[in-house]
This record gives sequence, structure tokens and C-alpha cells, in this order.
Amino acid sequence: MKSDPIVIFWFRRDLRLDDNTGLYHALKSQYPVLPIFIFDTDILKQFETPENAQVEFIHQQLQILQKELRGYGSSIEIDHSTPEVFFDNLCKQYTIKAVYINEDYELSARRRDTDIENFLRKKDIDFLSFKDQVIFSKEDILKDDGTPYTVFTPYSKRWKQHIQPVHLQSFDNRDFFSNFYKFENDNIPSLSDLGFTQRRGLIFPPIEVSDHLIKNYNQQRDYPSIEGTSRLGIHLRFGTISIRKLIAKAQSINDTFLNELIWREFYHAITWHFPHICKGQAFKPQYDEIVWRNNETEFTAWCEGKTGYPIVDAGMRQLNETGFMHNRIRMITASFLIKHLLIDWRWGEAYFANKLLDFDFAANNGGWQWAASSGCDAVPYFRIFNPQLQTEKFDKHLEYIKRWIPDFDPLNYIPPIVNHEFARKRALDVYSNALKK
Ligand code: FAD
Repeated sequence: MKSDPIVIFWFRRDLRLDDNTGLYHALKSQYPVLPIFIFDTDILKQFETPENAQVEFIHQQLQILQKELRGYGSSIEIDHSTPEVFFDNLCKQYTIKAVYINEDYELSARRRDTDIENFLRKKDIDFLSFKDQVIFSKEDILKDDGTPYTVFTPYSKRWKQHIQPVHLQSFDNRDFFSNFYKFENDNIPSLSDLGFTQRRGLIFPPIEVSDHLIKNYNQQRDYPSIEGTSRLGIHLRFGTISIRKLIAKAQSINDTFLNELIWREFYHAITWHFPHICKGQAFKPQYDEIVWRNNETEFTAWCEGKTGYPIVDAGMRQLNETGFMHNRIRMITASFLIKHLLIDWRWGEAYFANKLLDFDFAANNGGWQWAASSGCDAVPYFRIFNPQLQTEKFDKHLEYIKRWIPDFDPLNYIPPIVNHEFARKRALDVYSNALKK
């Protein structure tokens, strides 16, 4: 056991050194900072396939962090077990004064953090948490009567009234980087040590987004054949970019882009205030009365991009090949699965969770419950996207469809799995029956 006291910074959704709130506070403590990361086996075992884009991204990012830390004579201690086991081991090796983290608002993460906090407190070790991945969290944005917002527009208005320059001040860590604990450790487990393999064709989007793209966001963001959105989802998910810096940029360039970042905070706030959604329940309980058809053959056709609706199929193929799907197409494919096929939105949510590079529980659940009409500020149940009309509006020249279905021939394509008009009426019946109860 090493007797010189240290503090620990535990990386999770904040894989960067720069402008990292919890890390800043750790580095300003009087003790050397040991950075750690845990490939949590409880989380990894939830992934279905050996190929997982997010695990690969984290793995790559840890190597970048390791290189940076080496420049300061330090390293990152990486473990592949559970937080309970790893902290128990660390307590046997080091004299730990405190563990610093940035907050995570998902239910399972909150439970994990409470367990670790209790374990550490018994050993007289402080557990200090900070807000980092959002500008406003928890009780920061509430209605006048002290209850949480469940509709986006008034939430975003209050959010914009609330924000002050102080919220965007960055935590300039650089002067304190000499305070990292000095040691050398090259022990980053390989992907195969973790039980994963490299996915072919996976490209991680760059961390930079041009001012030009943000300026033109309003005109371009709805057209899936144009590279008109930022692709920053994965960087926001794992904190490789600072939300404070991005919001400052959005504020100065484009209010519509800013609104999208506020949607992200809105869904995080919903997750915090309404944890029943983390347990697989509909935000609005009456929507759990819907009797789903859950036809497995149709689900497979949807997953594989073989529904006979080209815009849906192109989207699913883009997702399967690249781990990304354009927002407009996420809405169309989700609506199709839920309303045309009457398959439980939770099946689609799980499929996206496993495939999306930018998968984030709050936004994914929010998006799926929006499409299912069961969400907090959702599309009305009787609004059912018509894939043909959506194509005419957003992919008029079939550029997106042809990119993902290269041999696409409109006159000789797979027959539709279900007739649109028939499916629309069936969905209306099933929904209205369920909601009558
Ligand atoms: P941009 O359009 O450039 O937006 C910038 C950032 O704002 C995004 O990266 C994201 O962090 C945030 N954002 C934008 N739109 C939304 C939104 N509607 N809700 C919440 N945050 C938003 N987004 C995820 O980050 N992770 C998911 O797992 C996810 N699953 C979705 C599932 C469905 C069914 C639907 C309809 C939407 C989902 N979204 C999800 C929201 C949105 O589709 C993606 O954030 C967006 O397409 C990501 O592309 P981008 O980074 O280029 O976004």
C-alpha cells in the first residue's frame, strides 16, 4: 500500500482533459490525481454483438487520453471489471483522500454512483460530483410552481432566460496538469480482451464543426442526402467535446442549432425527473395499454432494410453500415416500425441502442417515445408519417435512397411489406382502442 495520499478522477461520459469540471476540481486539490477508467462488465454484457461502435470509440479515445497524459508523466489506470471490484482493489493499493466524478443522470448510473459513494464513505473517502455534460440539470430549470417541464417550448424559453455568461465559463485545467499522479502504465486492454471485434466501415466523425455548417443548419438539416448536421452526437455522448464551448458557439451563430442542444438537455431533465422511463415504461402510462402485433419476421425485415419502403430501407441500411442515421430518417423509420407494423417501440429503441454510434439513453428513449406518441412532448397518435410523401419532401431526387440502396430501381423494388393506407387505419384503430380504456 502506497502511503502518499492521492485523489482519483473517474472518467465516464467526459473523456477529455480540457474544460472538464470534475477533473478541474480534482487537479486543484492538494493531492496528485490518479485518472481511471472502468470497462464495466455489467454494462458491456448488455451489448448483443461482438461489434460495438461505442466501445470502439471509447477504446480509441482512451488511447488519445493516454498519449496526452504521458506528456505529463502520468497514465490512465484502466480496468475491466466492475466499479465495486476495482475500487476495492484501488483502496488496497493507495491511500485515497477523495474520488471525483462528473454526474450521470441515468437511473442505473445514479444507483451505481450511490453504491460506490456508500462504499467509499465507509472508508472515510470523499465522493465529490460535479455537473459537466449539460448546462442545466436536476432542479435548475423548473416551472414557477416548482414542477418539471414536460413540454419543450416553455422549457427552452426558461432555459434561454436562465443562461448567463458564468454558465459558459470554461474550466481551464492546463496550469494544473503537473498535478497528475506520476506513473507509467501501458496496460490498455485490447478490444478482443474486452470481448469485442473491430467493425468494418466504421468512421468516427471529426470533433470540429464549421461555422459555415452551423450557419446553414436551418436550410440543410432536414435533407438526409446533404451533410448538413454536425455529427457531434458521439462527442457529446462521451464528452470528447465540451458542452459549454459548443453552446457558446451555437449562441453566437444559430438559434435553431442551439435549440437542438437544448432538446438534448430537455431529454436529460426528463430522465432525471421521470425515472420510470428508464424502466421500460411509457412516459404516459395509458400508452402501455396498446396491444402490439410484434411480428418477428416483419421486425427482421425492418432491421435489415427490406420493408419495400425505400426511404425506410435506406435509413436502416445507413444505420447498419455506418452506425449513423439522419434525424429525419430516424423519425420515419421509427414511425414506420411502430405505426405501420405495430411493433413495440421498445424493440426499435433496443435495436438503435445497439447500432447507433451516438446512442444516448435520454435522447434515444425521447426520440422513440416521441414517434410512439407516448412521450412527454410527442407527435399526436393520429399523425402517421406517409413514407412516400416524406420521400417527395425530403429526398425528392432519391439521392439519399440511391446512396444506401445502390441498385435501387423504382419500378422493380421489393414489394411493400404492408399497404400504407391499410396500416394507417389499423394503427388508428389500435391506438384509439387502447386510449379509450
Ligand atoms: P445535429 O442535428 O447536428 O444536432 C446537434 C446535437 O444536438 C446532436 O448531436 C444531439 O446531441 C443534439 N440533438 C439534436 N436533435 C436532438 C433531439 N431530437 N433530441 C435530443 N438531442 C438532439 N440523439 C442522440 O444523441 N442519441 C440517440 O441515441 C438518439 N436516438 C434517436 C432516436 C430516434 C427514434 C429519434 C427520432 C431521434 C434520436 N436522436 C438521438 C436525436 C437526433 O436524431 C440525433 O441527435 C441527431 O440525428 C444526431 O445527428 P447530429 O449529431 O448530426 O445532430
